[in-house]
Amino acid sequence: MSSPTRYPHIFSPLDLGFTRLKNRILMGSMHTGLEEAPNGFVRQAEFFAERARGGVGMIITGGIPPNSEAGRGSKLSTPEEAEQHRIVTETVHAADPDVKICMQILHPGPLAGTPDCVAPSAIKSRIGRYVPNELDEAGIEKQLSDFANCAALARFAGYDGVEIIGSAGYLLSTFLVEKTNRRTDQWGGSFENRMRFPVEVVRRVREAVGPDFIVIFRIAAMDMLEGGMAWDEIVTLGKAVEAAGVTIVSTHFCWHEAQVPTIATMVPRAAFTQVTGRLRKELGVPLITSNRINMPDVAEAVLARGDADLVSMARPMLADPDLVRKAAEGREDEINTCIACNQACLDHTFTGRMTSCLVNPRACYETELVYAPVEKPKRIAVVGAGPAGLAYAVVAAERGHKVTLYEAGSEIGGQFNLARRIPGKEEFVETLRYYRRMIDVRGIELRLNTRADADALKAQGYDEVVVATGIAPRKPEIEGIDHPKVVGYIDAILGRKPIGNRVAIMGAGGIGFDVAELITHAGTSAALDVDVFAREWGIDFVNHPRGGVTGVTPHVESSGREVTLLQRKTDAVGKTLGRTTGWTHRMTLLKRGVQMINGVEYLKIDDEGLHTLVGGQPRLFEVDTIIVCAGQLPLRDLYDELENDGVKASLVGGAFEAVELDAKRAIDHASKLAALA
Ligand code: NAP
Ligand code: SF4
Repeated sequence: MSSPTRYPHIFSPLDLGFTRLKNRILMGSMHTGLEEAPNGFVRQAEFFAERARGGVGMIITGGIPPNSEAGRGSKLSTPEEAEQHRIVTETVHAADPDVKICMQILHPGPLAGTPDCVAPSAIKSRIGRYVPNELDEAGIEKQLSDFANCAALARFAGYDGVEIIGSAGYLLSTFLVEKTNRRTDQWGGSFENRMRFPVEVVRRVREAVGPDFIVIFRIAAMDMLEGGMAWDEIVTLGKAVEAAGVTIVSTHFCWHEAQVPTIATMVPRAAFTQVTGRLRKELGVPLITSNRINMPDVAEAVLARGDADLVSMARPMLADPDLVRKAAEGREDEINTCIACNQACLDHTFTGRMTSCLVNPRACYETELVYAPVEKPKRIAVVGAGPAGLAYAVVAAERGHKVTLYEAGSEIGGQFNLARRIPGKEEFVETLRYYRRMIDVRGIELRLNTRADADALKAQGYDEVVVATGIAPRKPEIEGIDHPKVVGYIDAILGRKPIGNRVAIMGAGGIGFDVAELITHAGTSAALDVDVFAREWGIDFVNHPRGGVTGVTPHVESSGREVTLLQRKTDAVGKTLGRTTGWTHRMTLLKRGVQMINGVEYLKIDDEGLHTLVGGQPRLFEVDTIIVCAGQLPLRDLYDELENDGVKASLVGGAFEAVELDAKRAIDHASKLAALA
């Protein structure tokens, strides 16, 4: 089936007067780390060209600073620096001349990570490294002319436009709110004065680039800050940047310091587009919306509702560069969907590592991790259909190998089947759907309910056997560990054993937190209902108070269970969780009254409960149930047997290394091995 009929709004071109966008989906800006990497321009060129070939209408690059006060790494302020960008623009235009590529000009202001950083007032951001230097009049003039110069150089480098980021706690937005702008001159005080700098940036940029160049302004349509922008200020700013010459306004729902999740997996799909819809009624230029729009049907519905003229997808383009093309060809069931986990993208970005993607380890490694067709296909058996086995099987089969996938259970997925049951992690269902479909598309022979043993595999005469048998939960050696009060995490998550009202969870890693979420949860998952989500995080979509947040302690439903999360380490509980999402999990559980205790020594379990020492002092947790979430051990008996029998075998995923193994490492490891098979 041809899909332009299924997605009439997505595939309707947008006329911008001097140019045209071929469809309504753009790849949103993401700082990937390629900007500063060795050979970074060549790698960016291939990264973006792959997305251009994948059908997207417009691409916004990662943020490029206009001067050294905005960051030292990848600035664009000279013609020589502009020349380096040419490979990016030329490669993208060669991949598809109809795809537009715009460069984001990012001035982080107080978040620039350099002692030279600047801001309207010398107020340190909670997450910034330095107190910024307060700009004087000459400094403001310099920043304005650097923006204009950067935009002109972007045009010189072959870009079709620029995006100016005016949100997120970066320089322009720090002028907009009183919290970060205490000036009393013409750049501070009234809102008219506070918006003067961002509006003047737009005016100067337009002047520098001429009328036939795309200028996008990213506005904080809800900045999630108490005391943030009021709705009438947002509308006033939108109208002012429109009058100053922007082509498109892009709505953003973010301020990096704000304590409301806006893109994590517990945020419902398209939760914020209603705000864009409201702003769209006030402005004449096209509007872009974003946040948790990860599949074409979601994008189509947003456009059909009239919430926006264009939909920005950022992380979904890491997960699947061909998303738009697959939608156009009616192959949406082959889309590798972004599950909003942040584990390989934002968690990497915020810890100084190269961005990639949990479900697509090729993201940002396009020139290095290549799935080349094989000349001599082999017969390969993959044993175990968890994340590692699935990834290996699909990549090996894509390259042309003949793959048989064995799974002892009745369904594919392994640990994904646990994750998808956790409220807020419903997106994992999409990953399972993707793999199910790719098993068919790639012609993989799937044998469910089949425990492959060494003799049988040997008898089949495979060229290679890949052991992806996964893990077994660790059973700590504690007196009373077999007591009826003790439940393993798999039984707890699958609901195979009853869980009492007073619970101790032994182990506070990712799975301990998941189990705590599951057993304290009540009612509809916030990830599936925008109203529940808004209530849980204190967002008021109806009245839109300043920042969009009520400031009232949010209401979180609870099952009423008394739960204590324990760990032996003396580190803060939850420290090992993802950088960008761990705080949301901790906050939710704390609101439900979950106690978190570190420095625990487990002594014994008996009818009374769990006996421990906490900080050296005896403490009894009088609980009905103790759920063990104490990590895993590799399951590799099959591998040992194959080795003994002289069968060529390799280990992937948890069977290879169980310590701190998660789906990200399992898929990455398996895909890299399969690329070499
Ligand atoms: P984990 O993160 O390694 O945590 C294991 C927990 O068990 C730790 O809290 C550890 O803390 C405790 N532990 C280890 N050995 C123990 C023993 N002998 N006796 C008692 N306690 C022991 O493993 P996991 O929670 O099973 O998760 C597995 C992997 O999946 C991890 O890599 C995790 O990051 C990942 N995952 C991630 C998410 C996510 O949302 N990002 C969700 C689920 C799982 P102490 O040693 O201090 O007691
Ligand atoms: Fe999406 Fe997770 Fe991939 Fe990031 S790592 S792009 S959130 S699936």
